[in-house]
Amino acid sequence: MKYSEIVRVYDKLEHTTKKLEKRDILADFYKSVPPNELSLVVKFTLGFEDLGVANEFMKMTIAKSFGVRESDVVKKFKELGDLGKVTEFYSKHKRQTSLLKKELTLEKVYKNIKEFLSMSGKGSVGKKISIISELLSSASPMGAKYITRTLIGDMRIGVAEGIVRDAIAKAFDASVEDVENAYDMLTDYGEVARIAATNKSELKNAKIVLGRPLRVMLAERAKNLKEALDAFEHPCIETKYDGFRTQIHKDGDKVWIFSRRLENVTKQFPDLVELVKKHVKAKRCILEGETVAIDDKGRPLPFQKLSRRIQRKYDIEKMMKEIPIQINLFELIYIDGENYIKKPLRERWAMLKKIIKPLKGKFVLAEHIETKDYKKAEEFYKWSLSVGEEGVMVKNLDAIYRPGKRVGFWLKVKPIMDTLDLVIIGAEWGTGKRANVLGSYVLGIRTPSGFLPIGMMGSGFTDEQLKELTEKLKPLIVEEHGREVVIRSEIVVEVAYEEIQKSPNYESGYALRFPRLVRIRYDRAPNEASVIRDVEELYRIQRGRGKKK
Ligand code: AMP
Repeated sequence: MKYSEIVRVYDKLEHTTKKLEKRDILADFYKSVPPNELSLVVKFTLGFEDLGVANEFMKMTIAKSFGVRESDVVKKFKELGDLGKVTEFYSKHKRQTSLLKKELTLEKVYKNIKEFLSMSGKGSVGKKISIISELLSSASPMGAKYITRTLIGDMRIGVAEGIVRDAIAKAFDASVEDVENAYDMLTDYGEVARIAATNKSELKNAKIVLGRPLRVMLAERAKNLKEALDAFEHPCIETKYDGFRTQIHKDGDKVWIFSRRLENVTKQFPDLVELVKKHVKAKRCILEGETVAIDDKGRPLPFQKLSRRIQRKYDIEKMMKEIPIQINLFELIYIDGENYIKKPLRERWAMLKKIIKPLKGKFVLAEHIETKDYKKAEEFYKWSLSVGEEGVMVKNLDAIYRPGKRVGFWLKVKPIMDTLDLVIIGAEWGTGKRANVLGSYVLGIRTPSGFLPIGMMGSGFTDEQLKELTEKLKPLIVEEHGREVVIRSEIVVEVAYEEIQKSPNYESGYALRFPRLVRIRYDRAPNEASVIRDVEELYRIQRGRGKKK
């Protein structure tokens, strides 16, 4: 397919804000695409998960591709605020025309992107630039704009998963439920679209594939233990561990470990892989649990320790000894050819219990009681807190597993004044000695209209944290105004605070008093951050308690 065909669609999508129109534009397009190209086309309309090229690299590449100075690119970027548009500008004004005679195809763009992603290490920068340059200089100006945006992971066409799902359903006259069901199993809209186009009755029968992660079910927050208990006819209560959501796939001797963001972290956890091989009495299965780091006495360690292990790509053996782990299992999704997703938790838990040979302190079931009695539940909650855990999860024993959904089947109960997971949306360069670090951060809360500011976090970090944050945020700067910068919403931080106040000064309508960093949450995506409803709820609870001071 010619790349210009998809560019035309991008342009249409960018020029409407109406969701139904976007759906229809996509549906028409999907219908017109030969089935064997659909998967790629869907990938390109949804954006690539593993892209997110640094702006700095892109500026360099634009300069090289069009034979201009990087400082000019930087200036243009300040003026236009969008590297895509900057690329388009230089492409329109380029001096030499492309040497490539053939028109750019979607396959060629994909091939180069894949090649680009596979390169790493010293000396690869030059090659990477030339791979992308080849694309930028052979695309039309508008095409070049979207290639840049694809690479930096910021398409600005307003297409989220829901729209792609609905467009696939509409294009192939399938029901949204069937499309969603297939996506729940396959976690890949490209493949779902291909099935919808070629054999749509198979959408219903889509099967779990071992080694391919499923999106994890998420929890809602309950106001308190009582409310959580009252929510379900048959509740169970489990300790809520503060660690790393882990999805384990086992297929005979082959084991995969996935994070809640569906990253494959098998390499980082050879110890867990061994535990699974020895302590699971099932040939093939998918399990979930919370992995925590423990000290030499088996006590849970702060999440930071574990986070070091997750990020580590080398010296794994050493890390394994330094930071031993324990897993607390709480889910079974699939076993020996049978899909358990639609079975109630009661059955999933019973089967999980059956197939685990626990190893004390290392490979165990989550602490779990089944009661509706408030006294017993409270005792369990207090006990969980007393052993240093975060709180409890109250779960509906009658409920199914909904991949990727926060549907209220699990309710978390933690002591209030809770922390919030916020997204850094802006920052300010420091002054004097700190001129090279971003010193204070604009925190964003997730709302239906995007991330809106809810406070400035300017203290409470160590020098190390400041450096680390600066390094992570620098490539995400999208605009600079003097010392202030606008940051692409990617980094989630857990923030503690003294109080929530109503405030006309921030767009979210609320302000956090004395926000301070608890930790950077690399394990969490922006779309998993706290939402404005959480803030409203916490505000209400806080008022109910009366001011403490
Ligand atoms: P939160 O991250 O606060 O939304 O809480 C949900 C997370 O708690 C899950 O994604 C798990 O990583 C973690 N968790 C810890 N213990 C449990 C448990 N017993 N059941 C389910 N999730 C748990």
